[in-house]
Amino acid sequence: MAPVVTAVTDRVHFAQTDLVNWTLVADGDGVLLIDAGFPGHRDDVLSSLRGLGFGADDLRAILLTHAHIDHFGTAIWFAAEHGTPVYCHADEVGHSKREYLEQASPVAVAAHAWQPKWLKWSVSIMRKGALTHAGIPTTESLTADIAAGLPGAPRVVPTPGHTGGHCSYLVDGVLVSGDALVTDHPVAPRPGPQLLPSVFNHDEAACTRSLEALGMLDAEVLLPGHGPVWRGPVRDAAIKARDAASG
Ligand SMILES: [Zn+2]
Repeated sequence: MAPVVTAVTDRVHFAQTDLVNWTLVADGDGVLLIDAGFPGHRDDVLSSLRGLGFGADDLRAILLTHAHIDHFGTAIWFAAEHGTPVYCHADEVGHSKREYLEQASPVAVAAHAWQPKWLKWSVSIMRKGALTHAGIPTTESLTADIAAGLPGAPRVVPTPGHTGGHCSYLVDGVLVSGDALVTDHPVAPRPGPQLLPSVFNHDEAACTRSLEALGMLDAEVLLPGHGPVWRGPVRDAAIKARDAASG
């Protein structure tokens, strides 16, 4: 499925696919990508850039919410082939370099494979390169100085839990939440604001604390790593996700 790209503000554009989403922030100086899909999304990421009038070499940087393969897949290629700078939270840099891996083990995921939607999802992500083991050795931590010079001057909101160094980003009053708060997922029990199934989360208690932190932000649009855009106070989305987790 080709990505559906939606203009959220003058600068912020949301690319949604059935498996994972990414966000583009464009201004006169170029374009920034927040998350980068699976390795097999390269043509889709390039077409979303082209749709805004940019080529691969106009990409100023890629910011990662976290270094799972569905969020940093094409960043491996951009970094290697185009020298695109890749940034994430300081606590996620080692993960992005693949000094260690904080991803649900195939065995843990296989335990769910008797459920048709898990099986279907597993097949889809394998086709998109889910088993790619490469890291990005050039990943650097995003400092306030570097962020200030990028399109949209994104603000980092630390949201550890899904991975140890997961973070979210605020741009133009829009929250890009990665997997700290999603609105759906191919294996979610139901649509709506929620945490991902716990098999995917490194530290569930930290996920809950990060959700509380997101609920205190003054943002009216949420662009999640999985699922559709949420329009309305992010506080309300965080409450719904908390209630879904406890109910
Ligand atoms: Zn994800």
